[in-house]
Amino acid sequence: MRIAAHPAEAIVPGAYLTDEVVRTVLERQCCRCAGCNVPLTAGSTHFDLREPVICGGSRTSKNFLALCPFCHQNQMRRIRRWLAGHRHK
Ligand SMILES: [Zn+2]
Repeated sequence: MRIAAHPAEAIVPGAYLTDEVVRTVLERQCCRCAGCNVPLTAGSTHFDLREPVICGGSRTSKNFLALCPFCHQNQMRRIRRWLAGHRHK
C-alpha cells in the first residue's frame, strides 16, 4: 500500500480519501470550491462527501466534494441539521 502525502489529506480524517480521488475531484472542479467557486490551494482544500456514508453515500470520487474551509463548515452544519431532523422519526 502506498502512503499518500497530499497536504489536503492532513485535514481529512477519512483514510478512504486517496490521491486518485483528490486528483479526480480537483480536476472535475478545476481546483475551485464546489460551494462558492473560490480557487482552492492545497493547504485550504477540505474534502467532504456530497452524501454521507451513513445516508447511503459511496466513498468514490463521484460522491466527494472539494470545498474551501468556509463551505466545508456550512456543509457540515447542513448535514448535522439533516441528521437531527431524521433522528426524531
Ligand atoms: Zn467555498
